[in-house]
Amino acid sequence: IEPRLVTARASVITARLTLVVIRDITERERVEEMRRDFVANTSHELKTPVGAVTLLAEAIESAADDPDQVRHFASRLTAEAGRLGQLTSRIMNLSRLQSADDLTELRDVSVDEVVAAAIESQWLAAQSADITIARGGSRRAYVRGDVQVLTEAVGNLVANAIAYSPAGAQVGVGVKLIDGVVSIAVTDRGIGISEDEQRRVFERFYRADQARSRRTGGTGLGLSIVKHAVQRHGGDIELWSRPGRGSTFTLRLPAVDPPLNLPDKKRRAK
Ligand code: ADP
Repeated sequence: IEPRLVTARASVITARLTLVVIRDITERERVEEMRRDFVANTSHELKTPVGAVTLLAEAIESAADDPDQVRHFASRLTAEAGRLGQLTSRIMNLSRLQSADDLTELRDVSVDEVVAAAIESQWLAAQSADITIARGGSRRAYVRGDVQVLTEAVGNLVANAIAYSPAGAQVGVGVKLIDGVVSIAVTDRGIGISEDEQRRVFERFYRADQARSRRTGGTGLGLSIVKHAVQRHGGDIELWSRPGRGSTFTLRLPAVDPPLNLPDKKRRAK
């Protein structure tokens, strides 16, 4: 081989190596940037409720002689502390789902049970908003996963469907099992989400139409948790929505066979 050719080859190899190294650094920087963003966003979002708790505690101190005022501030303090508690537990869940740690509690999970538990967890919210929840579809779908993570994901979708629907409306939760894929669809006829915002609602802390969303007192983390939860289970999430007409969020997860020790009736039941 001509010496010049060798040099040329060597430089091609060096270029490739450099490219690989650069790519690796870029990936590391991206992960580091995401982590920094997460910490920054989180600290920012925690400031408001922490500030409110502090102010209310001070208000109670200075109203000590007036029992009515104390009761009033104390009940607001309880509400704010509850919100703060919900926010921190959501932040922890999201950070666990975003980390590389394996999901620990993997087993064959009945989707029917997940849906039932998710609806149960939102029973009070539905009741107070005068919303009825209709359930339908396949009862024999199973997936491999972490039952708590999946229940929280479906629960978040049901909670949103309730929160963004008018009083008296109906929310639907349907399960389908087709060609080895389980889909869980949560449908509402509520306010809907504009096309521009549909792409953004899965970002953490993003809340569409700020003024309207703030009234319902959410955290902007629910859908981000849902997205990471399904991704960790090898699935995905799809959103259909029209402003003023409502939304359908569909989770798709790889199905597994029902456990063999199930009673025959349940194995055959549709
Ligand atoms: P939040 O705690 O604000 O509900 P989410 O991450 O669950 O946070 O949702 C992000 C935003 O997406 C919400 O603030 C709301 O604007 C919009 N959204 C979510 N679900 C629905 C729905 N079913 N109907 C209309 N808008 C929704």
